[in-house]
Amino acid sequence: MPITYEHIKTCKQTGARLGRVHTPHGSFDTPMFMPVGTLATVKTMSPEELEEMGAKIILSNTYHLWLRPGEDIVEEAGGLHKFMNWDGAILTDSGGFQVFSLSDLRDIEEQGVHFRNHISGEKLFLSPEKAIQIQNSLGSDIMMAFDECPPYPASHDYMKASVERTSRWAERCLAAHKRPEEQGLFGIVQGGEYEELRRQSARDLTSLDFSGYAVGGLSVGEPKDVMNKVLEFTTPLLPTNKPRYLMGVGSPDSLIDGAIRGIDMFDCVLPTRVARNGTCMTSNGRLVVRNAKYARDFGPLDENCGCHVCRNYSRAYIRHLIKANETFGFRLTTYHNLYFLLELMMQVREAIKEDRLGDFREEFFEQYGFNKPNAKNF
Ligand SMILES: [Zn+2]
Repeated sequence: MPITYEHIKTCKQTGARLGRVHTPHGSFDTPMFMPVGTLATVKTMSPEELEEMGAKIILSNTYHLWLRPGEDIVEEAGGLHKFMNWDGAILTDSGGFQVFSLSDLRDIEEQGVHFRNHISGEKLFLSPEKAIQIQNSLGSDIMMAFDECPPYPASHDYMKASVERTSRWAERCLAAHKRPEEQGLFGIVQGGEYEELRRQSARDLTSLDFSGYAVGGLSVGEPKDVMNKVLEFTTPLLPTNKPRYLMGVGSPDSLIDGAIRGIDMFDCVLPTRVARNGTCMTSNGRLVVRNAKYARDFGPLDENCGCHVCRNYSRAYIRHLIKANETFGFRLTTYHNLYFLLELMMQVREAIKEDRLGDFREEFFEQYGFNKPNAKNF
């Protein structure tokens, strides 16, 4: 198997897992956050900077690379790692989420999904076989099965039909996989907020030999307590000897709460996207550095952060760059936000090691301000 999970210990206070995932491009400790590099680049960051901040695995998007530059060009370059000069691990999604979220004109049938290219309007078709073929060409370490991502909320009847189709598509993904010795493939458990459907989806998918399992269909607009409840009844249905990945989640509180519910891997565009609006994650909560009150603030974004941005640049300077639309400003906030989440995951791993993740959560939430009424979150 190209992807293996090594369990190190379980936190006695919370049940969170400390582990290590081994891939053909190195190993990473879990729980881990994966920065998102949609178009074979984590926007404004160089691979050298990602390495410096401690990123071990990044995510890239199949749908976007399929449209631009085309997976054949990436393959000709020697695969995605060579193409973008990143030697760490890469996870690619299946394209399903983008097809379902970017395109209003789509038609789902048993064979796959017909939709229009969001750039050119051209008619396209994505199926389990096509999604795997593209990912085989990209050469990611971890590929994702092609699934349907139903909107929230979806009726029980709709969700049941969707879960069953996703299970049939999962089998087709495994059958279409041409490089099983070099690339892992994860299945995606769906079922929305319905426990019985999550159970059905997990049963179907765990009967197939995937190298890991994702919990999909969360962080799609449902309240956080619904997400936590779904995780509580879903992660126990997944094998303990394989990695578990919560898709599309990246706010600091949800990372901690996901780890507590047995999740090992997370990804989200949130830290990089908000960075480009001048919004930063700090140990004292959300900081909108664009705001006028920082015009003469010569302190760092976060006095508790050891990143090179916080050691060398002031809020006033970063605010000025962002206000002036200077690329360097976006680079600084992006670097800090990614560093902040990678560092947070390191603290989570330390806390698991010492059986005190519950205490850590309390302290972090208190300092971050989540416990205050009207706390500003992401
Ligand atoms: Zn920093």
